[in-house]
Amino acid sequence: MSRLLIVEDEFAMRRGLEDLFTAEGHRVLCAADGDTGLAAILREKPDLVVLDVMLPKRDGFSIAQEVRRHGSTVPILLLTAKGGVDDRVAGLDAGADDYLAKPFSPAELLARVRALLRRSTHTDELPRTLKLGDVTLDFVKQIATRLSMPRSEVTAVPLSPKEFAMLRLLAAADGGVVSREQFLDLVWGYGAFPTHRTVDNYILSLRQKLEPDHASPRFLLTVHGQGYRLGTAFRS
Ligand code: CA
Repeated sequence: MSRLLIVEDEFAMRRGLEDLFTAEGHRVLCAADGDTGLAAILREKPDLVVLDVMLPKRDGFSIAQEVRRHGSTVPILLLTAKGGVDDRVAGLDAGADDYLAKPFSPAELLARVRALLRRSTHTDELPRTLKLGDVTLDFVKQIATRLSMPRSEVTAVPLSPKEFAMLRLLAAADGGVVSREQFLDLVWGYGAFPTHRTVDNYILSLRQKLEPDHASPRFLLTVHGQGYRLGTAFRS
């Protein structure tokens, strides 16, 4: 169960969303204008905010901006009235995590909310560092370095933000399996539509960067039919 805040001025839409999320087992708070919505987000500290763009007193973009300015990382799902790209880009720029254009299907809204909630709860538990053989990863600074013997030379290993995020998930699983669906949900999110093959290609690239012999991996192991896990030779 999570605490969700809905900021929406249209009564019918607000009631519909409230019923939908309550039926999913969430606790739901509501606000009907921008100022009340912003105050409620900062005061109530909900687990997620469903935020309409067109609101009286203060629009959704301004609310998202203010919330981020206060240092809050609460997941924000923006409900845009227009399907226009400008609106979505403005929303993401303002600090929203995802958006959905009205009219939307309740099933899609619920799926996006589930994904945002999963991503936000996972972030708290993630490890800060990981050692794979001679490579040390710092997830906070997003830096990977290799210590080469015998001359103790330290060189940077270039990794993309997605590669860091994948390794962090594997480290958080602590040797357990991470499925391709989990990678897609938690690293790519619902904004993009990559396939299982995308995950496999990223793993391949990571092996080339991190494994002493990428043809027989020690760190990034395939679990057939399930996904990937870290080999026993890691320390977080
Ligand atoms: Ca509205």
